[in-house]
Amino acid sequence: GVDLLTVGEALVSLRSAGPLTVGGPLTPYLAGAESNVSIGVARLGHRAAFAGRVSADELGLFLLRQLRAEGVDVGHVVRDPDRPAGLMFLERRTADLTRVIYQRAGSAGSALTVDDLRPALAAGTHVLHLTGITPALSDSARAATEWAAGTAARSGALVCLDVNYRSRLWSRDAARAVLTPLAGHAAVVVASHDELDLLGDHGADEPTVVAGLLDRGVSTVLVKLGGDGARAYTREGRVETAAVPVTAVDTVGAGDAFTAGYLSGHLDGLDLAGRLRRAVTLGAFAVAGHGDWEALPRRDELALLDGRQSGSTV
Ligand code: ATP
Repeated sequence: GVDLLTVGEALVSLRSAGPLTVGGPLTPYLAGAESNVSIGVARLGHRAAFAGRVSADELGLFLLRQLRAEGVDVGHVVRDPDRPAGLMFLERRTADLTRVIYQRAGSAGSALTVDDLRPALAAGTHVLHLTGITPALSDSARAATEWAAGTAARSGALVCLDVNYRSRLWSRDAARAVLTPLAGHAAVVVASHDELDLLGDHGADEPTVVAGLLDRGVSTVLVKLGGDGARAYTREGRVETAAVPVTAVDTVGAGDAFTAGYLSGHLDGLDLAGRLRRAVTLGAFAVAGHGDWEALPRRDELALLDGRQSGSTV
């Protein structure tokens, strides 16, 4: 078994340094919320695995190679000879404005099935991390996500669900109808403040949604607040954590880094305050460096930003 298993779609992200309309070089990178979390956890020395479906062509091999290079176990990834890699184009439109174009409909990753995931779940994991992106990809991917959540929860694994609402994949109403019941399988639920009402009744406020989740057996609800840090709710009450002050250069991946930090803290047996501190520390690394996951720390680098008050030379 592994410490953490994540399931989802890994994408090829093609980044341009300027407007896409004028052309110029595109550079391929591995992208995807779930694979970001697996890398964050693996860099901290835990045994992490990624499961899903990738294209059987060079682009799929590229994704597997990147994950392997980061120490993520991809032994249970299924290779699909009939479907293409999901793509995203990241266009740096201005210095601080990035636009995204997706080409992921009909991709290998979106064709995920329950059978694809059976070997990875059977191998066992302490933590299963899922996002609200995967069930939006297709009916079979939704069934696979729901099956994985139920199976892992019954086997005693800690199931973590990050809402990760993607408006290009489904409406808020469609997401709410799937994610509200799915969250009932999770022990840890992660959301941004504006995603919370996808986990309860339409228009419900934060205290109401959180109370509903805790009633349904969720043990920890994490609310991400960007540069303001995060809040955690448990049955014992509420804990707030400030963000680590850094100069933000690229905020993509902050939420995934935060979740990776939290789950690493869980695997290390840290208390809630310690888990949150590691979460905001990883979030700070993500925003303070370029790329979705490239700037995430190894364990010996955690101290660079942990407890940091202001700029420094090391
Ligand atoms: P994304 O979708 O871009 O990955 P998100 O909306 O899921 O991000 P955020 O709330 O933006 O998640 O960020 C997650 C965590 O990262 C925050 O809780 C915080 O700890 C850290 N973080 C985000 N922005 C900053 C910042 N400007 N400075 C320091 N830390 C930050």
